[in-house]
Amino acid sequence: MNWISNYVRPKINSLFSRREVPENLWTKCDQCGTMLFHRELKDNLNVCTNCDHHMYISPRDRFAAMFDGGVFVEVSVPHPIEDPLKFRDQKRYPDRLKAAQKAANEAEAMLVAEGEIHRTPVVMAAQDFGFMAGSMGMYVGNAIIAAAERAVALQRPLILFSAAGGARMQEGILSLMQMPRTTVAVEMLKEAGLPYIVVLTHPTTGGVTASYAMLGDVHIAEPNALICFAGPRVIEQTIRETLPEGFQRAEYLLDHGMLDRVTPRGKLKGELATILRMLTGQSPIVHGDLPAPDTIAPPAEIAEPAAPAPATEKAAAENTSGKQARKVEAKKAEAR
Ligand SMILES: [Zn+2]
Repeated sequence: MNWISNYVRPKINSLFSRREVPENLWTKCDQCGTMLFHRELKDNLNVCTNCDHHMYISPRDRFAAMFDGGVFVEVSVPHPIEDPLKFRDQKRYPDRLKAAQKAANEAEAMLVAEGEIHRTPVVMAAQDFGFMAGSMGMYVGNAIIAAAERAVALQRPLILFSAAGGARMQEGILSLMQMPRTTVAVEMLKEAGLPYIVVLTHPTTGGVTASYAMLGDVHIAEPNALICFAGPRVIEQTIRETLPEGFQRAEYLLDHGMLDRVTPRGKLKGELATILRMLTGQSPIVHGDLPAPDTIAPPAEIAEPAAPAPATEKAAAENTSGKQARKVEAKKAEAR
């Protein structure tokens, strides 16, 4: 009987019971374990509606939420030579790269785009932790340089969202060379007098925190993001001491002067636009599509609120004949 239950039955089941199973409608929060409906979660920018835990968000989804109307134009990034070291661990590096490209449906671990946030023109770059742990390789270096060059060409500020497990070991020394390269890119922005804002997201670690992620004019972090060079486990094992609560988390770093702000994802857009407009001497952000203040009629010219629509023609005639007649009638009614 064993072969029937183990082999035949599953085969038959797989042949006849191809039910249309809806694709992951629910996501479990890693923090509090609440099951979250995927559409609701997406509307909340992948932040848990129960405990405010900030989950992973892809650069493309982030850009769609950040840019006005979800409209942005991608900035093209030159591709570096693939696998110059002919690196191989359990897999060949090009195979690993192809698998990551297929899984993330992105070319590499950083996306660069230009567009407007609250009508403030900006260039944005976002690192993708979902793509080989957001590791910084030659492509990421190229992307940051492309972003900086585009920002200088358009005279726009640059916003960078960092998320990385560190340098890409498959590219060896070439990945470490991206640290000085990206530092030069940031310097280009400073020489052009353009603001460079870094938003550190969970987790930003390793060589990334030792270069472009810590060179911003303003450093903002998402709540509870891990931001460090060496991780807490490594430090604990090295110094053989228990680390304080919340060590290397955004709030702890804010208290210790490493960050300027800790801002929830939902409020980032407004905050970034406000900061950029302050730094570049523009007027405050205008919410909605209200006309500019000078086109609104001055108060004296504003007409009296319209009287409620008369029900009959007679009433209409009364209405036009004047308010006094109606007042008299009202008084008569009171007297009765
Ligand atoms: Zn939660």
